[in-house]
Amino acid sequence: MKVLRARWLWTGHALIEDGALQFGADGLLVDVDRFEPLAERNAGAAPVEDLGDALLMPGLVNAHSHAFQRAFRGHVQWRQATSAADHGDFWTWRDAMYRAANALDAEAVSEVSRRCFVEMIEAGITHVGEFHYLHHDQAGQPYADPDELARRVIAAAREVGLRITLLRVVYGAGGVGEALRPEQRRFATRSPDEALAAVARLRQTGDACVTVGLAPHSIRAVPPAWLAELAGFDGPIHAHVAEQPAEVAACKAAWGRGPLEMFADAGLVDQRFTAVHLTWPEPGDPALLRRAGARVCVCPSTELDLGDGFLPLALREGVSLCLGSDSHARIDLFAEARALELHARALAGRRNVMSPPGVRHGLAARLLRAATLDGTAALGGAGEGLRIGQPADCCAIDLDRPAAEGVPPLEAAVFVATPEWVRDVWVAGARVVRGGRAVRNTAPLASR
Ligand SMILES: [Zn+2]
Repeated sequence: MKVLRARWLWTGHALIEDGALQFGADGLLVDVDRFEPLAERNAGAAPVEDLGDALLMPGLVNAHSHAFQRAFRGHVQWRQATSAADHGDFWTWRDAMYRAANALDAEAVSEVSRRCFVEMIEAGITHVGEFHYLHHDQAGQPYADPDELARRVIAAAREVGLRITLLRVVYGAGGVGEALRPEQRRFATRSPDEALAAVARLRQTGDACVTVGLAPHSIRAVPPAWLAELAGFDGPIHAHVAEQPAEVAACKAAWGRGPLEMFADAGLVDQRFTAVHLTWPEPGDPALLRRAGARVCVCPSTELDLGDGFLPLALREGVSLCLGSDSHARIDLFAEARALELHARALAGRRNVMSPPGVRHGLAARLLRAATLDGTAALGGAGEGLRIGQPADCCAIDLDRPAAEGVPPLEAAVFVATPEWVRDVWVAGARVVRGGRAVRNTAPLASR
């Protein structure tokens, strides 16, 4: 049992001055309230840790990650142009990504994942959705354990204390109507049954901080005939959808419909479904998502880095949005959250595009919910934040700094904070970050 007290507590629903929460040995919250009434009920039974001038809030949720892509940060942000017209684009970046993916042996996958996850927890992230598509060895052959790399990625997350939803990717085509290419050999899935069997095996971990979802990679990489066979899956389903105009054009030319409609017609688009990116939706897509109760995972930093574009304004109202750091050009969920609104302002040419009308602190709360509760829901959790019975997944943001002086706490977190403001982090009641540093398995990479 433990009590955490902070000058400000945001539960995901309410902002409480001098708030506190209490959790048990099982890592679940047993009390959430202002400090005084909670302390009276506690009557000294559980020790109190006073976090002082901090905002205690639900842990950040990174709903879309490819941990191995952290390996080439800084190496693909520029391009040796061969002519004045050679700027590079999503597709040239993808070729570079394939080369990086094929250069990593199993040990290197473990190492880069672990370092990426250390960076995440130190940035206040308590739960990652790892969209995992590296399945085979460097020659494209299955490992003795066909789930070798998935298990290594899960183990890397758990080593540093991060909660993980492993989204096991289905990858069966090299492009719309095309066979797999040699450079995609490590991603190959031979059939929907092969993917569903892998998911069933991976679900047997017995660790409450590990869950497994299914990820038909994209309409580029999954033959349409496979989609209906995946629709019976009973957990979170994520897919890259309409990230690039060429993908949408190829899909419509081949099948007469856009990518989201293809997934919907196969029975995949409902509350389980998260469309990652959806930068280039068809006109009917926003209404389709609202009807279905499905959501979008936006990755603003990566979408700008790759030249994908902006999530259109039509998808920023009435659709549940969560956030991801995707290629990890940077890992900063505060920046991703504020980009939701700031990009909307740039697109609309006005301010307060995503503000709920008349709600005090409503805009900051909405953006922070995208970075927390809505991400949890996308990864198959309750998405209820810091409520009794929910896991004690939380982070403390340091407000005792000049940049936070005079700034309301939620606005400080979402409009000003950087990952360096994160002081302490707990996952399922276990301390994983203290004083801004991960408490376990923080050895640097052996080589770069
Ligand atoms: Zn992605």
